[in-house]
Amino acid sequence: MTDDDMRSRHAVVVGGGLAGVTTALQLADAGVGVTLVEGRPRLGGLAFSFQRGDLTVDNGQHVYLRCCTAYRWFLERVGGAALAPVQERLDVPVLDIGRPGRPRLGRLRRTALPVPLHLAASLAGYPHLSLAERASVSRAALALGRLDPADPALDGIDFATWLRRQGQSPRTIEALWDLVGVATLNAGAPDVSMALAAMVFKTGLLSEPGAADIGWARVPLGELHDTLARKALDAAGVRTEISTRVRGIVRADHGRWRVETGGAPLEADTVVLATAQRETRALLPDGALDAPDRLLEIGTAPILNVHVLYDRKVLRRPFFAALGTPVQWVFDRTEASGLGEGQYLAVSQSAAQQEIDAPVAELRKRYLPELERLLPPARQARVRDFFVTRERTATFAPAPGVGRLRPGARTRAPGLYLAGAWTATGWPATMEGAVRSGFTAAAAALQALGRPHEHPLKEAA
Ligand SMILES: Cc1cc2nc3c(=O)[nH]c(=O)nc-3n(C[C@H](O)[C@H](O)[C@H](O)COP(=O)(O)OP(=O)(O)OC[C@H]3O[C@@H](n4cnc5c(N)ncnc54)[C@H](O)[C@@H]3O)c2cc1C
Repeated sequence: MTDDDMRSRHAVVVGGGLAGVTTALQLADAGVGVTLVEGRPRLGGLAFSFQRGDLTVDNGQHVYLRCCTAYRWFLERVGGAALAPVQERLDVPVLDIGRPGRPRLGRLRRTALPVPLHLAASLAGYPHLSLAERASVSRAALALGRLDPADPALDGIDFATWLRRQGQSPRTIEALWDLVGVATLNAGAPDVSMALAAMVFKTGLLSEPGAADIGWARVPLGELHDTLARKALDAAGVRTEISTRVRGIVRADHGRWRVETGGAPLEADTVVLATAQRETRALLPDGALDAPDRLLEIGTAPILNVHVLYDRKVLRRPFFAALGTPVQWVFDRTEASGLGEGQYLAVSQSAAQQEIDAPVAELRKRYLPELERLLPPARQARVRDFFVTRERTATFAPAPGVGRLRPGARTRAPGLYLAGAWTATGWPATMEGAVRSGFTAAAAALQALGRPHEHPLKEAA
């Protein structure tokens, strides 16, 4: 197909989350005319910001790892990489207040040594596990290294069962595997597919020394996923329609599609549904998938963020993880939010099924004393503001068996493709998975249009 033929081809991408924005950029970069349609008044989907007075608040703390090559591509592509840097070397302070005596600080750190020695020193000195438990972790890590996350058999068992088989004690699961796993997978080990756990831990801990170095936005998420994404889309020639809900997708003449919104319908050769599984099911034309109702069997899991504004600095570190308390991870959001005075902490609570509907007053009563136990300076500080953000369907549930429910990008309907973190990326519900799904959907669409393109991540091509 010539460049002129290509430009006459039109694609509509439905959903302006990271999957949809990526798909739109990839298609536009290959010369296709693209319209991106987003129901909300902003791009960014599940990773966004909003104003609360002068404060810019993220709906939930987001982090990524150095091994998230697709999301890093996204940051580069929109010109935001410098605004969400990765720490030089993995360093996670872990504060335990669950045992008698003074709170104990441990560190999960890496050295410059090759895998798996890069974590050996940190593990050897990790105070939250006994010597025997530390040795058992090394053995489990070696076993992990032998697994193939794509092995369908792994999707049938849960992470906790596998860990127990590897001799991991309940304490080891709590103080190490779940400490990381709950935050990255959004479920505790008993509720996690071993395939997804293997993907996260093998890629993060055993692929290369720097793989698990942590990156996070030093600006509001909206600046990256909405403002900068919008700029990149405009520059690529994508027409973006926000506050526009797609109501239906029907076959039009000559094998084209008609995308129905409240206003004039859009005609397209290619449609990519980059919406969540439930919305996708509702929009799917008949016959597009063999078992479309399977999408509804993919569960969801909530994340709660507790936001506390103190009148003074109570935490010196950019973030830490906690043990022996309901508090999971705490991040300093002061600078990113634009707060002039005092300190703003976001407490990120994954797998928050028990608390997602709890009243603010109850959460305040629970979390302020816990923060005081963890951070002694908080005992003298005045709380200027306390609020919560609740994402009831933050991620798909990473349950055993979910792998067989996740569809690929291609459907049975020519010209119709699926994207979204919940599709078959092999990754849990992450920004990385969302961007990867966008690559895959765009590649499939371009191939059908006779325009195979080079995968942006050569290693994944
Ligand atoms: C609180 C929280 C914390 C998280 N923490 C992390 C983290 O630390 N690290 C990480 O990697 N990931 C994290 N995630 C997960 C990550 O945000 C998501 O996996 C990712 O953003 C999903 O992107 P997506 O494009 O697949 O889907 P979505 O973001 O859901 O995008 C879908 C878009 O489609 C739009 N839409 C739906 N229906 C229609 C319609 N009919 N017409 C038009 N538009 C429509 C929606 O409005 C939405 O914008 C977190 C998520 C939450 C909520």
